[in-house]
Amino acid sequence: MSIRINKEKCVGCGRCAEVCPGTLISISREKANMDYPRDCWGCASCLKECSPGAIEFFLGADIGGNGSRMYVTSKGHMLHWKIVGLDGHIRTIELDRRNSNQY
Ligand code: SF4
Ligand code: SF4
Repeated sequence: MSIRINKEKCVGCGRCAEVCPGTLISISREKANMDYPRDCWGCASCLKECSPGAIEFFLGADIGGNGSRMYVTSKGHMLHWKIVGLDGHIRTIELDRRNSNQY
């Protein structure tokens, strides 16, 4: 499993369930649930849609993360990618959605 849903932060908006290409997430009792965690291939689509930052993505050794975590908060068109190191230190990368397909 690449992601974990923090139920305390989840507001039950359903955006993650709408965008997951594998329909791996459902909403029940106003919270998101991973119904098939083993099938998640870590595309990160759900992270970008979760404005409260309730979905955490594990950064494994295979991509140089060594077990650190990442989540995304957003406001308007701005995305704030938060990378939480093993020591708890948080690095933030700010991106404007409007520039997402520019090279
Ligand atoms: S997008 Fe985030 S807040 Fe909305 S249902 Fe999914 S996990 Fe919960
Ligand atoms: S990372 Fe991708 S495949 Fe996994 S639950 Fe989120 S949207 Fe679905």
